[in-house]
Amino acid sequence: MGRDNKASINHEARWWRTDGDRVVCELCPRTCEIGDGQSGFCFIRKNEGGRLIQAAYGRSTGFAVDPIEKKPLNNFYPGTPVLSFGTAGCNLGCKFCQNWSISKARLDNAMSSEVSPDEVVALAERQRCPAIAYTYNDPVIWAEYVIDVARIARSRGIKNVLVTAGYVTERARGELYEFVDAVNVDLKAFTEEFYRKTTLSHIEPVKETLRWLVHETNVWTEITTLLIPGLNDSDDEVRALSTWVASELGLDVPVHFTAFHPDFKMTDRPPTPAATLTRARRIACETGLRYVYVGNVHDIEGETTYCPACGVAVIERDWHAILSYRIDAAGRCAGCGKAIAGHFDPNQVHRTSGRRHILGLVH
Ligand code: SF4
Repeated sequence: MGRDNKASINHEARWWRTDGDRVVCELCPRTCEIGDGQSGFCFIRKNEGGRLIQAAYGRSTGFAVDPIEKKPLNNFYPGTPVLSFGTAGCNLGCKFCQNWSISKARLDNAMSSEVSPDEVVALAERQRCPAIAYTYNDPVIWAEYVIDVARIARSRGIKNVLVTAGYVTERARGELYEFVDAVNVDLKAFTEEFYRKTTLSHIEPVKETLRWLVHETNVWTEITTLLIPGLNDSDDEVRALSTWVASELGLDVPVHFTAFHPDFKMTDRPPTPAATLTRARRIACETGLRYVYVGNVHDIEGETTYCPACGVAVIERDWHAILSYRIDAAGRCAGCGKAIAGHFDPNQVHRTSGRRHILGLVH
């Protein structure tokens, strides 16, 4: 498939400067200072002879076709399949990472295949996916590749979706999101203490990314918070987070509360009880948010989209599967005609099982 090992490994990075004998990566707020021969926190950005190299360019850990509800995005072309892929490494250090075999992997150990941007888009077309999702680890760290794939996808009418922690600098975000149509941002908690101790990052840059996305771009934005028992699931914290979303981002921004399972460096906590998610959803709805969901559990009521005007269930779901759909071609409630926030195409709704189809490594 026309791969060039050396070209991909030696892909020069963007968004960096030199500082003495070190390079400073300015892609994410961590701004790693990297000595010659060393890598940044995310493993894949390296100083090679005084230049910053992006070593993951074109090297994916594998492809799958997911329901878009799995990202999760519930108000962006519901019921459609999305070609999903990621690479090794991550720019956050979440102790609870639910995907750590990829995010904490070194490139050489992640069985990465090498695929050109054209090949990714061609794969999406072959799999009849109207969108591509950059997911599994954080797409910020291989932004150069994301941009190159997304540009081609946009030119062929395929949408681009990011699943990210939103930890990106002001300098880089405009270019990263130029061809992006929708994003799910992990807002991992609503305290700086949690961000600092449990994710090794800071909350303010994430809030700033969210404000920018909602108010200064056309990128459809949804938010996910993984609720961890005893750490970020108190009534006060859920209410503070929801109130902030409602007042600073708007009532139409969907929020997903999802269930944690013990993993990686956090095996001393129990899985999130379904009742915790139900409680969080109730609190968020009380703040006025119109589209609040639960995830990683079977809860038809909590996974359903309701019309904010008449209360009718316009999209009923069970896990990632669509059970019923009552939104017209103009994106309005079929019952009362109220516009439902988001992007909808009734002709593309596949009422499938909502299951993943793994394609594996593409050669
Ligand atoms: S993208 Fe990677 S190398 Fe760059 S600042 Fe963030 S963690 Fe460091």
